[in-house]
Parts: sequence; C-alpha cells; structure tokens
Amino acid sequence: MAFETKPITPVPPAEIDFDNLGFTFIATEKMWVAEYAGGKWTTHGLVPIGEFWTHPAAGALHYGQALFEGAKARLNDAGEIVLFRIVDNARRMAEGCRRLMMPVYEEGEFVEAVNQTVLANKAYVPTDEQGALYIRPVMFASAPVLGVKPAEEYIFLVFVSPVGPYFKEGFSPIRLKISKEFHRAVAGGVGCVKAAGNYAAGMYPNSLAKADGYAEILYLDADNKHFEEVGAANFFLRKGEELATPSLDDKTILPGYTRDSVLQLASEEGLNVGARDVMLEELAGADECFCTGTAAVITPIGSVELDGAEITIGDGGVGKFSQIFYDQLNAIMLKEAEDKYGWVTTIGKK
Ligand SMILES: *Cc1c(COP(=O)(O)O)cnc(C)c1O
Repeated sequence: MAFETKPITPVPPAEIDFDNLGFTFIATEKMWVAEYAGGKWTTHGLVPIGEFWTHPAAGALHYGQALFEGAKARLNDAGEIVLFRIVDNARRMAEGCRRLMMPVYEEGEFVEAVNQTVLANKAYVPTDEQGALYIRPVMFASAPVLGVKPAEEYIFLVFVSPVGPYFKEGFSPIRLKISKEFHRAVAGGVGCVKAAGNYAAGMYPNSLAKADGYAEILYLDADNKHFEEVGAANFFLRKGEELATPSLDDKTILPGYTRDSVLQLASEEGLNVGARDVMLEELAGADECFCTGTAAVITPIGSVELDGAEITIGDGGVGKFSQIFYDQLNAIMLKEAEDKYGWVTTIGKK
C-alpha cells in the first residue's frame, strides 16, 4: 500500500537564508514514514514531505499517545555530515514507547530512518557556523479508540529542518525563574520520556516566565525541595570541585544524553561528579550552574529568580566548566577532538 499525502512544497535550498535561521519548521524534500497495523510495522521509507489526514478518534488526539525525539546532523570542516549519539535516541524512544504502550520501532530501523532522511535532505544541512539540520522522529497513535486504551495503529515518521545556532550572539548566560506553583512531572509519571503532553503542560508556566523576562522555568520536585530540570534541558550545579545533577531515580527527569556526556567528561576533568538530590538551598552557594540539551549543548545560567529575589550564580557570567564542556562537546561532535566513547557517526558527505 502506498502512503498517501497531500504534498507540501519544499523550500528550495537556494531560497533559504542559512545565515539567519531560527528554530521554525522549514519544509525539506523527504520524510521517512512507517505504519503499524495488524501487529507489525510496514516501512514505506522515504516519501515526499506531505500532510496526511488522521482519524477523528485517533488515540494521539484524545489520549496523548504521542512521543518524539530530537537530534542534530552537523557538517564539519571536512564536509562530513555527523550525528551525535543517535543510538541513544533510538533506545530512548523505545523506552518511551514501552511506557506509553506504543509499539517499538526497532532501534536499528530507527537509526536507518534517521540516516536516510538526513542524506535525502543533505542539501539542507547548514555549515557548522550556520547551525544544524534538526532531526525530529515522531510516533503517534493513528487508529480510533473511544475508551482509554492503547490504539491498534500508529505512524512513525522522521522529518528534518535546518535550524540556526542556539547562541547567535555568542555563548551567553540565561536568566531562569523557579516556580513553586507549577511542576513538570511527578515521581512515577512520564517526566522521563518525551511524551508530547509533557510539553503542552509546560507552555503556560513557560509563557508566564517569558512575560517576566526569563528564558525558562527551572522546575522543582512536587514538594519544592530539590531541583529537577529546565523546560527541555537538564540541570547541573557546581560548588568547588563538586558537580551535581538531579538523579533520574524518580523518573521525573528526562535522561538527556548531553547530560550523560557531561557526567563522563566531568569525571575526566577530575571533578567529583554525581547524580543526587540537588537541594534548593544549594543555589545560593553555587559557583556555577548550567543546563544541557541537544538544542544548545550547554547553556550557562547567569541568575535565577526565587521567591521574588534574583540570585546571581557565580559572577553572573559564563562559568569555567560550562565553557570547558561546551568546547569539548562541540569538538567531539565535529570530530575535531578524539571520540573516545564512540559517540559520533559519519553518515556521508555533503
Ligand atoms: C530532550 C530533553 C532534554 C535533553 O535531552 P538531550 O538528550 O540532551 O537532548 C532534557 N529535558 C527534557 C525535558 C527534554 O525534553
């Protein structure tokens, strides 16, 4: 069976202003599609990017069976298109599928889907200074359900879109706001997976923080005692030689692989590093805080608002290790530094 879509016209690469990319959808040429029905996946592979209709009772629309991933393809100076820890995206999506009772798209197939989609759209991969080709795998329940239960049919797709560099005016610290009113996740819930609904729930608190001039909310646990993470990035706090990040034990925190990479690099730097409860009271004495994620790699935190007071972190500038890890990770990602852990894959040349 062919997969029918209503075509979306791709933006020709020649018409894209690669030096002024933001983070918005730009239609590229191809997407990858697979359909799950009758207990098995049928992969259609690369198809022209297009819209498709779904069922009015589709499980994704009513009960939120929808999950996504995020990754980047970058172009290094040697003209190679490189991916970072893509196997970890595959594994994380599989874990999310199990939690939301969605069918797993086999991890090797996932990686193949990403590689093929990037290569089919390689004319859209910006140079490193201009940004990256953002990769968005998504899965959602497409078949009708009425009672609350897993749907029987799903669609998996991968599309890509060129995005600009996160720090346009250089690497700079952000201001965050702590919310004691809003929480992102509860212990045992779905904070640990990229369930679409988690991000819907964050939009309102985020809009309030933005209206007050903050970049994002720094979330606490439901008892307002310790830190969890930032809207879509993990949190780190350093005091002296100790670097700490909230632990994943309660399943409230998304297990970012930028977080995991920093944990590994930090022990090589000789820091006493670990995952534990990072308490609210520790903020005042912190030497540096930063957050981590695919979008920005490392984002230094300059100040945090708590109960109406602004707490400056360190000297308010870019912390020493924020800079070190930012430089190290970027160098590894672009194959300018040794890739000891086998994080990077080269999938082709532009
Ligand atoms: C995606 C995401 C992160 C960062 O994960 P990476 O694998 O480092 O990109 C952190 N927190 C949340 C809530 C996320 O959705």
